[in-house]
Formats: sequence, structure tokens, C-alpha cells
Amino acid sequence: QPRRGGPKNLPIAEVFIDDTEEHPGKSKPRLVVLGGGWGGVALLKDLNPDDYHVTVISPTNYFLFTPMLPSATVGTLELRSLVEPIRRILSRVHGHFIRAKAEDVEFSYKLVEVSQLDHKGREVRFYVPYDKLVIAVGSATNPHGVKGLENAFFLKDINDARMIRNKVIQNLEIACLPTTTDEERKRLLSFVVSGGGPTGVEFAAELFDLLNEDLTRHFPRLLRNEISVHIIQSRSHILNTYDETVSKYAEERFARDQVEVLTNSRVKEVQQDKIIFSQKQDDGTVVTKELPIGFCLWSTGVSPTALSQRLAKKLGASQTNRHALETDTHLRLNGAPLGDVYAIGDCATVQNNVADSIVSFLRKLAWSRGIEPESLQLHFSDWRNVAADVKKRFPQAINHLKRLDKLFYEFDKDQSGTLDFGELRELLNQIDSKLTSLPATAQRAHQQGQYLAHKFNKLAKISDAMLANDIRDGDLDAAVYKAFEYRHLGSLAYIGNSAVFDLGEGWSMAGGLWAVYAWRSVYFAQSVSFRTRSLMAMDWMKRGLFGRDLVA
Ligand code: FAD
Ligand code: MG
Ligand code: MG
Ligand code: MG
Ligand code: MG
Repeated sequence: QPRRGGPKNLPIAEVFIDDTEEHPGKSKPRLVVLGGGWGGVALLKDLNPDDYHVTVISPTNYFLFTPMLPSATVGTLELRSLVEPIRRILSRVHGHFIRAKAEDVEFSYKLVEVSQLDHKGREVRFYVPYDKLVIAVGSATNPHGVKGLENAFFLKDINDARMIRNKVIQNLEIACLPTTTDEERKRLLSFVVSGGGPTGVEFAAELFDLLNEDLTRHFPRLLRNEISVHIIQSRSHILNTYDETVSKYAEERFARDQVEVLTNSRVKEVQQDKIIFSQKQDDGTVVTKELPIGFCLWSTGVSPTALSQRLAKKLGASQTNRHALETDTHLRLNGAPLGDVYAIGDCATVQNNVADSIVSFLRKLAWSRGIEPESLQLHFSDWRNVAADVKKRFPQAINHLKRLDKLFYEFDKDQSGTLDFGELRELLNQIDSKLTSLPATAQRAHQQGQYLAHKFNKLAKISDAMLANDIRDGDLDAAVYKAFEYRHLGSLAYIGNSAVFDLGEGWSMAGGLWAVYAWRSVYFAQSVSFRTRSLMAMDWMKRGLFGRDLVA
């Protein structure tokens, strides 16, 4: 019988943590990771094998290589090539896996409450205790309050990809029946993508490739001009978070391929056989339009999971962001006991209170001079000190702050050689507005997972000595390891047999067939295992030789 406890007196799953004790006598901290996606797996990959008792909790027992998911929907890649069992990944660190969903965290008891269905389909709940907890639960699909989403498809996990694939093939087969009317065939072959971000764009491109490459060969009854692909985008451009050249290239490419891009459009309702949206015209008027749909993909961005929302609410005033769990620059969850809980990946955001930090620096400066902050006159040499402090504390802000020297002169409006309080306030406003949040990408989740692994490795070595010196109540994280620094390595989006690259800092490329190979090799290198790499290579080879398998 498991021990019970915690605020709800639930069973406590000690058994999962202690049953592989290899070094009796050495008590290792219990590290619990919520989620086996990009963030969680990156952490597991770089963690030293024997420093922690590792437990991963996730409702899915595989890691999903999401960048390739759009390819899997049309059969360019096999679904099994994109997943890797979590248990296989965990074996290196001798960790445990619990297939369950985290429901809540009791921060003061250091317990995670989880739920799962038992063999009779009843929900069971229990606690998993932790010494360190990493929240990496990703995000949920954003419904934007639109009606009729039960008629749309999503693209988040492997089941979604499978359902999309079946639906697309089913539509093609029904369209071929002699009893299908012309009008009905046109509807069945009308594919609508709602959302012009990378997922929607890549899916549309994959679909277009499928229709172009395999259809004439395998579905000769279908006429190319009966098939249509549409992208509905709320902004004025697709891929609007990317560099402008990338977004323009994608639009031109789609225009050439006759993929219809409907910009400035908002979906109002998805019905069984049509989609209704409003489109803002050049003259500012808004017109309501509709399109017949045989298939609709909903990919208009993400929102926090139920768990993230619950935790943010529980932590109250220390969580101020509506879209993600806020952490400090050491990735520690704001409001939770310092050094217990971390949050990474899509579910998290690093708080960028550069302006606040500068203000408190200025207060201290004024105080040391024995004056009120309002009467502070900041010289250039003072400003350099402020800048140095900011760079140390907010390394991810560094790109924007490179031009700090220039800012000083720009905001010294009266050219007095000093900044007064009003001038400083203007400057801080500008800094705040320029610091954008980190992107919700695999790249970022991966870097954050790696960062935590390296820090935890270091903490495991150092903490005994530190604890002996009784610095346990100090800021251990900051004492042993640097703040997290994001490095933008470029984004990739696939646009029908060519790839567009956004390499950040104003560099971008777009181009033909060579880009496909570059694109594939980037993902090859990022791909997690030799197994996955081999499977994908075989899929691509197979497709090259025989075309896609269009069976469902
Ligand atoms: P995820 O990888 O989503 O992992 C979350 C994990 O948490 C999952 O294992 C999930 O099962 C688990 N989980 C969820 N709820 C709970 C709970 N309550 N308790 C326990 N576990 C839970 N990014 C790029 O950089 N490049 C791309 O080309 C790209 N293409 C994409 C294409 C598609 C179709 C999609 C959907 C995403 C794409 N992304 C891409 C984004 C990228 O996948 C995410 O940014 C990344 O997965 C975030 O990693 P994460 O670890 O935060 O979350
Ligand atoms: Mg994860
Ligand atoms: Mg994932
Ligand atoms: Mg996450
Ligand atoms: Mg001045």
C-alpha cells in the first residue's frame, strides 16, 4: 500500500522513485519533468546519468519531432519515423516514466498531482514528490472563440496527422466516384488552411506537392483545376513573424503555384461544408465571404494548457503574463520557492523587466549620492555602468542593447551631456517596447532544456560543498551558473519543394531545389537519434522512387 499524504490525502508514488537505488546511502535529489516534448527531452539528453532520480510524467509516451509533422500528414514521411519512445530516451539516465497527466502542483508540499485512467476507465489520482520540478508541458491549440471548430482539423500530435491523412485520401477517393456531382467534387477538393504561420504554410505547401506530384499519376480522373488550396490569414502577410523577404518569397511562390492567400481575413465560423470569414478591403470596409470546404485545418496559434493556467492563477500576482508561465532569467518559475520549480519551452516566458531593473539601479545611484531620483542627472559614464549591469542580468536582451551608447545621445534631447529623469523615462519606454518575448519554437525549448541540464549537472557537483558552507538559502542558481541566453539560429519553413530561411539579424535566403537539401540536412542534424534519421532517410528515398503511399 503506498503512503498517502498531501493536502488531498492521495497516494504518494514513492515507489517510482526509489526502486532503482543503485547507490544506497547517497541520497540523490528527485528530479521530476512534466512533458516529454522538445524541452523535456533536451534536458534528458544532456543530464549526467547518475546525479538525480529522474521521473518523466506525460500523457504521451513518445517524443514527437514536430517540424516534420506537416510532411507526415500527406504521406511524405511515415508517422512512426517522427516519434521516439520516451522510455528509450530515459534509459540513459536510468529514469522512470509515468504515463499520466499533471493536474496541479502543491508547491509547499513539493508534490505534483497527476491523473490517469485505470484499466476500468476510471480516473485515478495520485501525487509524485519532487525536489526539483521542470514544467515543460508545451501549449494548446487556440480556438479564438470561433464556432464550429469540431468541423476543423488540428495539427499538434501524431493522431492529428493520421486523421488529416485519412481525410485527405478519403476526399480524393470519393471525388473519383462516378456518382459524385461536379459541385460536390469541387467542394471535396477545396482545402482550406486557417492560419498563415509556419505550420499552416508548411501544410499547404506539402498538400500542394502531393496534389501536383501524385495526383495526376494515381488519380487521373481528377482534373487539376478542380482542386484548390486556400490560406486564410488575419494579418496582411503570411509568415508575418519572419523576416520580410521570407514572407514575400512565400507569397510569390504560392501565387505562382495557385495557392490562394486570403489576407486581412478573420474566420467567423466553420460549418460542415463551408467556412465563413470576414475580409477587410483596401478601402477599410469589411466584407463577409465564404468558401466551400472539403477539409479545413485550424492552425492559428497557441494558448496555455489547462495546467499552465491553473498554476498561473495559483501563483497570483507573481504571474502577470496571460500567455505563458513567467520565469526569471535563470528559468525559475516566478512565485514558486526559489530553486524548486523551473519552466521551459512553449509553456514558459522569461520575464524581461529590463526597465524595472534600470529604475532600481538608478534609485540606488540617487540614494548613494544623497539625492531624490527625480533630480538625478545621469552622465555617460553612469549610463555605461547601468548598461553593464543590464547586460549581465538580461543576456538575452543583449542584441537590442548593443546600441545603448547611441540611445544615450539620442535621448539627451537638450544635448546637455546628461539625461534627466524625463529623458530617462522616454528611453526606458523605448527599451521595453523593443524587447520582444522569446519565440515558441522547438529551437528555444531545446536550448532551455540544455541550459537546465548543464546547470543541474553543475548543481549536483557543487551543492554538497555549498550546503556544507550553509549557503543553502542563498541564490544557488545565480551563484553556480549564468543566466539563460537565447541564440537565434534561424527558422525554416517549407514552401513547396523549396525552403525559406530566416537566419535572424536581417539575413535571409530563399531558393530552389538546393534549399530542399539544405533544409533536410538541417533537420537531420537537429533530429534526435540515429534511428529517427535512418527512418526519415528511408522514407524520403522511398518517396523519391515510388511516390507517396496514398492508402488509408
Ligand atoms: P512540446 O514539444 O509540445 O511538449 C509538451 C509535452 O508535454 C508533450 O509530451 C505533452 O504530451 C506533454 N504534456 C502536455 N500536457 C501535459 C500535462 N498536463 N502533464 C504532463 N505532460 C503534459 N518549431 C520549430 O522550431 N521549427 C519548426 O519547424 C516547427 N514546426 C512545427 C510544426 C508543427 C505542426 C507544430 C505543432 C509545431 C512546430 N514547431 C516548430 C513548434 C515546436 O514544436 C514547439 O515550439 C515545441 O514543441 C515546444 O516544446 P515544448 O517542450 O515546450 O512542448
Ligand atoms: Mg517538453
Ligand atoms: Mg514535441
Ligand atoms: Mg513547454
Ligand atoms: Mg539632457
